[in-house]
Amino acid sequence: MLKTDTLIIGGGLAGLSAGLALEGGSYLIAERECRPGGLAATIKKGGFHFDYSGHLLHLRWPHTKKLILEALKGNCARLKRDARIYASKSWTPYPFQANLSGMPAKVKSECVSGFLKAYAAGGGPGDGTEPFSRWTRRVFGEGISRHFMLPYNAKLWRYPLQRLTTEWCAPFVPMPKPEEVIAGAYGKKAEGLGYNTVFHYPKTGGIGALANAFAAGLGGLRLGLEVESVNLKKGVAQVRHFGPVHFRRLINTSPLDSFVGMAQDAPAAVRRAAASLRHNTVYVLNLGVRGVKNDMHWGYFPGAEFPFYRAGLASNFSRRLAPRGCASFYIELATAGEAVDLASAETEILRGLKACGLIKNAGQVVEKLWLKIPCAYVVYNRERAAALPVIFGWLKARRALSIGRYGAWKYSFMEESVKEGLEAAAAVLKR
Ligand SMILES: Cc1cc2nc3c(=O)[nH]c(=O)nc-3n(C[C@H](O)[C@H](O)[C@H](O)COP(=O)(O)OP(=O)(O)OC[C@H]3O[C@@H](n4cnc5c(N)ncnc54)[C@H](O)[C@@H]3O)c2cc1C
Repeated sequence: MLKTDTLIIGGGLAGLSAGLALEGGSYLIAERECRPGGLAATIKKGGFHFDYSGHLLHLRWPHTKKLILEALKGNCARLKRDARIYASKSWTPYPFQANLSGMPAKVKSECVSGFLKAYAAGGGPGDGTEPFSRWTRRVFGEGISRHFMLPYNAKLWRYPLQRLTTEWCAPFVPMPKPEEVIAGAYGKKAEGLGYNTVFHYPKTGGIGALANAFAAGLGGLRLGLEVESVNLKKGVAQVRHFGPVHFRRLINTSPLDSFVGMAQDAPAAVRRAAASLRHNTVYVLNLGVRGVKNDMHWGYFPGAEFPFYRAGLASNFSRRLAPRGCASFYIELATAGEAVDLASAETEILRGLKACGLIKNAGQVVEKLWLKIPCAYVVYNRERAAALPVIFGWLKARRALSIGRYGAWKYSFMEESVKEGLEAAAAVLKR
């Protein structure tokens, strides 16, 4: 029988960071995969390094920034974003609402006049409870909503936009002023809008270099260990092919809904709350391609004629992700959980990449790798706000913590998972 002070479920960035802060003490990270990093891992295939779609470091907090950059030991570049949107058969810089210059004249005037009308009617950010479909029309007006916000978000979330709240929007959706919208449409490109104007990325090894660097110093990390059930009251977890692990404290980083599902002592109200949580599923097609010359980092595709919502050129983050003479793409398509016919999706993707000019023909593809992210974006449905206090109230009573993008069930980023891992470890040590 194995005993540990702190059991950490998951060796993604949240779990690894918690382990870093507990190193030297009694802790065990049970990670079911045979590699660390969770979604921030990199897979090598045919001379290419493929991530689980674009995984860029947005570093906002001094402490976590220092930790991450020190772990990477100089293996990190700082890059200025080049993101674009392909809509109405034209490219325009991101963000759409502040950079309409590339759009056809009719679309541009529809978007600008709609925005000014909405602004005059008093479109403010709101309190987060308003349905997205209403919020975007009130804030950005009819044109921007119709040409970008509504079709793009419908493709990404795969959830009815009239039932999606707007709590997640503030950090992620840039809200330009009227003068910026006008200047972006008829004059200069709007720089510096949004959370990701500059980003960091490892010079070699893909984003997995960070998780590998964290993992190297962890004595308590165990790969290939899947937690199948937990009993918080008894302080015991059942691990597949391993047996029981007794713990005093638990830090969960696995998706909150499945964690509640495996908690034997979860009350009925907690189970009901967890059952109301929703997420989408993202399929990423990584492609190794010959003969592509394009400086773009990534592009957004609101149009229904493209099966994907975003496509990026990973080899523009780091040349070393692809062999000499080749580039690498990641192309993301989202579902509400239904199965995807990958062969026909691939045909449609290649057709889409050709239509927008990113590739010339399918013969350029020399390598490919499909990656599936079953739980990718946590959906901000109306039920989420009511469900989370019920679940976290129970966890608090059991002195367990649930952190990270999926453990805390939110739209968050790698640095936030690192921050929460450190904070969870500090809370454990304090107790
Ligand atoms: C499409 C997409 C693009 C993204 N792009 C960016 C980006 O550009 N920049 C950015 O900062 N963030 C990005 N993110 C978010 C980023 O991936 C996450 O914030 C971060 O990696 C989450 O780390 P985590 O440790 O919280 O969770 P995870 O990485 O999900 O780690 C959880 C771990 O738990 C393990 N696990 C689950 N269940 C069990 C079990 N029962 N037993 C044992 N182990 C288990 C899993 O295998 C996994 O390794 C993106 C996310 C997605 C979906």
